[in-house]
Amino acid sequence: MRYSSYFIPTKKEIPADAEIISHQLMVRAGMIRKLTSGIYTYLPVGLRSIRKVENIVREEMNRAGAIEVLMPAVQPAELWQESGRWEYYGRELLRFKDRHDRDACMGPTHEEVITDLVRKEIHSYKQMPINLYQIQTKFRDEIRPRFGIMRGREFIMKDAYSFDVDEAGVNRSYEAMYEAYDRIFQRCGLKFRAVEADSGTIGGSYSHEFMVLAESGEDRIVNCTTCDYAANLERAEVKEEDDVSSADANAFEVLARLETPDQRTIDEVVEFLKITPEQLVKTLVYMVDEEPVAVLLRGDHELNETKLKNALDAQTVEMASERSVKEATGAPLGFAGPVGLEIKVVADNALKTLKNFVVGGNEKDLHLKNVNLERDFTVALFGDLRTIAPGDACPRCGGHIAFGRGIEVGHVFKLGVKYSEAMKAVFLNEQGKERPMIMGCYGIGIGRTVAAAIEQNHDKDGIVFPIPVAPFEVTLLPLQMHNEAVVEAASKIYGDLVNMGIDALLDDRDERAGVKFKDADLLGIPVRITVGSRGLKNGEVEVKLRTEPESFIVPLSTAVIAISDTVKGLYDSLK
Ligand code: ATP
Ligand code: MG
Repeated sequence: MRYSSYFIPTKKEIPADAEIISHQLMVRAGMIRKLTSGIYTYLPVGLRSIRKVENIVREEMNRAGAIEVLMPAVQPAELWQESGRWEYYGRELLRFKDRHDRDACMGPTHEEVITDLVRKEIHSYKQMPINLYQIQTKFRDEIRPRFGIMRGREFIMKDAYSFDVDEAGVNRSYEAMYEAYDRIFQRCGLKFRAVEADSGTIGGSYSHEFMVLAESGEDRIVNCTTCDYAANLERAEVKEEDDVSSADANAFEVLARLETPDQRTIDEVVEFLKITPEQLVKTLVYMVDEEPVAVLLRGDHELNETKLKNALDAQTVEMASERSVKEATGAPLGFAGPVGLEIKVVADNALKTLKNFVVGGNEKDLHLKNVNLERDFTVALFGDLRTIAPGDACPRCGGHIAFGRGIEVGHVFKLGVKYSEAMKAVFLNEQGKERPMIMGCYGIGIGRTVAAAIEQNHDKDGIVFPIPVAPFEVTLLPLQMHNEAVVEAASKIYGDLVNMGIDALLDDRDERAGVKFKDADLLGIPVRITVGSRGLKNGEVEVKLRTEPESFIVPLSTAVIAISDTVKGLYDSLK
């Protein structure tokens, strides 16, 4: 590509709404432009990077045996009503009516559409396993679109769906996708990690997120420094013995009332009563599928809503409003407690061994002390309900837990029969019996992967692209556009590189050298070739890698070979 006739609108200014570096650099490098909140145009250079990621994804999906299709963006409500998600998906689903007053939505994901297709076309075990994928534009009306295309409302996703006849089959499909994802992100040149993620009520390790490691990441991840356990914070299990070991042998003491005027929060109560948070049990009232439930946790622990939802096999959990708390406990916010409470009470495992603790008294300005399980109240269900915290042990090996941050670029998930049962996607097995298909789904955020690559690879001058996702592999800078020899030498190298199938950008603009160097750095093109009149006199050109501070000189006569070897070397280093 010749820069002068291409379209790369670079910018000096940092866009005011860009909080993180990848967003700033994508705008400054002329990769993307915002149309409106969370909705972007991919400019030519941005689109090139997007296509590079798409191609890697496509190659690896094909290699893993998945088959490409392309489904519609607009989806009829009927399918979502059949799966039950029309009701539950919430406001991220952009719904609308067509001219015939029929409800529809913009697809945020395609389980319904693919299940509908497969149930109509596949009827026998002989036609399975099958894994269909697409690379397509999704729409999610995100509550907080931000970070450019990292969390857009309209974005490109690769989504794949596997259909198997039995458990062993779906496990093989899952494994194949997991391995394909490993190869994809490896080939993209990213530092990443697969972590266990919440798999709802399916249980087991059947959901993994692929996280690009970055401090600015929105996802919190936990990993063991001894074994290979890694999970996102939402999922990370708490080892029960950890909390149980804090049991003390004290006998039950006499239950007593404590006046606690206006002391509502944990901090206030702890300070006022001169106790530690471990001696306090907090009672949170939640609406679980519209029914109030009291959730008990030790004062120093945090509730994990996902664990609560799974433990109660619920569709929705939501913190109760002030009014609902009052209705359920008879007390204003801050004074709820389990003693005498009539709603269902569930508790975190840590409570099992706690004795003589403090709880809210279900009356304004009242707490109770020396409260004990069984004697003073009963719990309907114990479970691992809290979020793991620094200081907790690894749930697998007891080792040390480290906390970090990541950007979720991919997700593999075993769905089981959730959609096939709801939507009657069945097949006849070898014995001629009707069975629901067993499904898996597998997503990759294409744009988010490009943004994550930049988040992980940049310096003060701009992007430092890993070569597989760079818009161009090589950029050529002829420094004096009025010097015929310079222009000719650069054009010759450019032509030869293009003929060899190397993605080269010839910066043939009539601009100062400084401008060309700045833009080349901003764009992050991995290999830069400088052709200048002084070097040419000695029959030399200069090669510089974007990752290295120093350049090196190669003879003009063998420059093309040296450049193609350099390019090849960069790819090889990622294998
Ligand atoms: P997140 O927790 O970040 O919202 P998700 O769990 O909703 O992600 P999935 O439904 O698993 O995401 O979608 C598959 C992939 O699509 C994600 O791993 C991510 O890379 C990408 N993705 C999801 N939401 C967005 C978005 N708003 N903008 C860009 N990419 C997205
Ligand atoms: Mg999401």
